[in-house]
Amino acid sequence: MKKILVTILIFLLLLSILTSCAVIKDEVNIGNGFNNNSNGVPIEIETDIDTSKLNLYEINAELNAVSKLLKIQQRVRYINNESIELQELYFHVYANAFKNKDTAPFLFDDFESAYPRGFEPGYTEILSITDNTRANEPLRYSLQGEGETILKIELASPIKPGDYAELSMSYIVHIPPASERFGWGENNFNLGNWYPIAAVYDERDGWNLDKYYAIGDPFYSDSSNYLVTIKAPKDYIIASSGKLLGDRQEEDTRVWEFEANIMRDFAFVANNQFEIAEYDADGTLVKSYYYKNQPERGKQALQIGINSIRLFNEKFGKYPYPTYSIVETEFPSGMEYPGIVYISDQTYDKDANEEWFITIIVHETAHQWWYGLVGNDQIDEAWLDEGFASYSERVYNEKYYGKTIARNQFANNEAVMRSNIGKTRVVKSLSEFEDWNDYGPIAYSKGAVVLNEIRKDIGDEKFFNILQTYFSRYKYKIATTDDFIAVCEEVNGKDMDKFFDKWLYAN
Ligand SMILES: [Zn+2]
Repeated sequence: MKKILVTILIFLLLLSILTSCAVIKDEVNIGNGFNNNSNGVPIEIETDIDTSKLNLYEINAELNAVSKLLKIQQRVRYINNESIELQELYFHVYANAFKNKDTAPFLFDDFESAYPRGFEPGYTEILSITDNTRANEPLRYSLQGEGETILKIELASPIKPGDYAELSMSYIVHIPPASERFGWGENNFNLGNWYPIAAVYDERDGWNLDKYYAIGDPFYSDSSNYLVTIKAPKDYIIASSGKLLGDRQEEDTRVWEFEANIMRDFAFVANNQFEIAEYDADGTLVKSYYYKNQPERGKQALQIGINSIRLFNEKFGKYPYPTYSIVETEFPSGMEYPGIVYISDQTYDKDANEEWFITIIVHETAHQWWYGLVGNDQIDEAWLDEGFASYSERVYNEKYYGKTIARNQFANNEAVMRSNIGKTRVVKSLSEFEDWNDYGPIAYSKGAVVLNEIRKDIGDEKFFNILQTYFSRYKYKIATTDDFIAVCEEVNGKDMDKFFDKWLYAN
């Protein structure tokens, strides 16, 4: 998310070059807001993953739009896929970062735009955590880390490798007035990172218990299965990760049921001013949720989504999920979650820069491949998703605007390389970056340039073969920089240490 200012400037320069002609508008149809064709039909996702080994979240949430809170019952089946016994489990409770101004995940400069209605705390109020497999025996738990965003749960008995624990959590989420990933706005509720999600245990770090950094997208999670029910006032429409199984009216509320299989996270946006346009692209129902008074950009967003899905299916590998939603909401730029992206409502304005609007949608859509499907540790190796998503913009521009325009647009990234900022290492942790002006050029621009240099070195055929091999090998899983290098060397048939030392690790 949050592309950097320097990119905006280049786009302003390119206003006269890029035109809107490539965005075709004739395929769009308007839905009535409810897709009832799919009630109860199981999602069939082609995979060699044993889905019974994925954690399962069953979440029942009730949105109170007046009090700005969610009442939640959450059941988690946590499967120990490690080779050691686990005596305790860790979850991220990202909402707690919003409790105090000191830990709210925004740098000083961003604070005012994050809270246009003033600061109010957001947080998770835990009522109980019990062990389902032991007659709902209460479990000991504690909150720790900066902003108390880490929940440690002590199990009654350790989980053996291959075994599982089943927990029930009861809690209330207090939503802050923030125009951000998590917060409420004029007509919307943005629910990103809103529920306790299991921390990743990996070989390199053990439990990954990073704080909610104010830069980057400081999230890291395993693919899981989700069954989510959301009860909201009946005038609200819910856009979410996963597939709508059905919705029904219950007095003054509407109950929405979603299933999200083999997804890394589950996010949703509720809004009482949504209109929906939808279209099937290669078997994926692409949906555009937009404000009623902005149908032009709303339909254009759908077309950009369709174009992106089709192109990236061809270039990287098939998007396997049944739905993909592009959602207009109060947000500064764009933000990706599996199966759903937030796009800033400011970009839907008729007079707003169209190229910027297109780029954000293409970028966030590319994240469905790079971060959503092929997962990575976004704290330690952000370039693996930001560099790839940024490079995907070039792939899109080549297809829809031609090679010359795409190359000119990309020159901006190369300019970063020649600047002082560009001379630093690509592979580094969020804790090593100062601010967005330090992080953006490295993770996004230099990350994209690294991919372009590989392409220049070995040619189009091998380059896209690398991306396809990397995608098919690591989709639903977690990939590291070393995994990517190994694929490059395999496809290229030779050692590339020197190349990657120079491009990724040299200071
Ligand atoms: Zn991004």
